[in-house]
Amino acid sequence: AKSVTLQNISKAFLNDKGERSYAVKGVDLNIGEGEFVTLLGPSGCGKTTTLRMIAGFEDITEGHIYFGNEAVDQIPPNRRDCTMVFQSYALFPHLNVFDNISYGLKIKKMSKPDIISKVESVLDIMNLRDYRDRMPNQLSGGQQQRVALARALVMEPGVLLFDEPLSNLDAKLRLVMRDEIRRIQQQIGITAVYVTHDQSEAMSMSDKVIVMNKGRIEQMGTPMEIYQRPKTQFVADFIGTANFMEGTVKGTEEGRLLVDTAAGLLRVHRDGFKTGDRVTVVIRPEAVSLGNGSERKGIVQKSVFMGQTQEYEVQFGGQLFQITEHNPIQEKVHAVGASVSVQFAEDALHVI
Ligand code: ADP
Ligand code: MG
Repeated sequence: AKSVTLQNISKAFLNDKGERSYAVKGVDLNIGEGEFVTLLGPSGCGKTTTLRMIAGFEDITEGHIYFGNEAVDQIPPNRRDCTMVFQSYALFPHLNVFDNISYGLKIKKMSKPDIISKVESVLDIMNLRDYRDRMPNQLSGGQQQRVALARALVMEPGVLLFDEPLSNLDAKLRLVMRDEIRRIQQQIGITAVYVTHDQSEAMSMSDKVIVMNKGRIEQMGTPMEIYQRPKTQFVADFIGTANFMEGTVKGTEEGRLLVDTAAGLLRVHRDGFKTGDRVTVVIRPEAVSLGNGSERKGIVQKSVFMGQTQEYEVQFGGQLFQITEHNPIQEKVHAVGASVSVQFAEDALHVI
């Protein structure tokens, strides 16, 4: 496995008017050996362009890319030590599974016995042994994607790149393939850069998540850091659902900030703010609970049973809150129009 370093990488395209327009701007990124890093962000934020620059399919307008200590900027894609797995599996339709997987090794002029032993071992890792003689059109979407992954793995690249590889699969299969990709990546200890716009995919697979917005890195961190301590409104909103409350810092107490909001005085994590600062408090839907007390009263505007959860919208403190209750129980569900008391889980509050 290789580490990958992006040093102040930018990519400009010429738009219709012939002006330079940046798809990626000033991206700095260190990906450790054997790390699984995901570029996450909405469509058009520059994920694919970043990945294609790492692969060498796209020239870099500014900056440098290193694999380990080696600058690869001037190295063509076929000589970079990386392989890309695409959303469209791009299997050769006229070659069976074995020949699809062995194709790259043949091009490399590897000896026949070596090819057979490497392909056999990858067929085992990917649970594809029973399918080795099938043609691509005799495989399900999930099996085709496994063959595409096997074809990448057999090349034993220093870096494995994925561009939304599960987008064409149905929801259930996507969940299975997430686990499978993660398992294999850890088993062989390969460095992986994974692109997706699906936040739960990013959270469940990655060592590190890079949230991108308009060509720039908005925040990077572990999935838990990104979810529990989003640094900007964009990140809080893009990763899951969030409620925002404007407030003013009134002081500190036992290492927490006291923030005055329309919902009353809240105690939140400090995160480097001081008395007098105008702040926004971020509150996740599952960090709010509803009760029958007489304080902090709100009115239920929406109450929807989702199976594992009951989803509420509650008018409170001059705004609408999204609230998620786990393990809903019939007798305790609040109906639309009910007057409820609103509580925040202190540990889950923080400010941006
Ligand atoms: P993502 O993968 O996050 O959806 P992309 O990296 O594909 O985003 O695109 C980022 C931006 O760059 C978009 O605005 C897109 O239109 C633009 N872009 C991508 N490729 C080209 C190209 N070959 N020529 C001009 N603009 C491009
Ligand atoms: Mg893309």
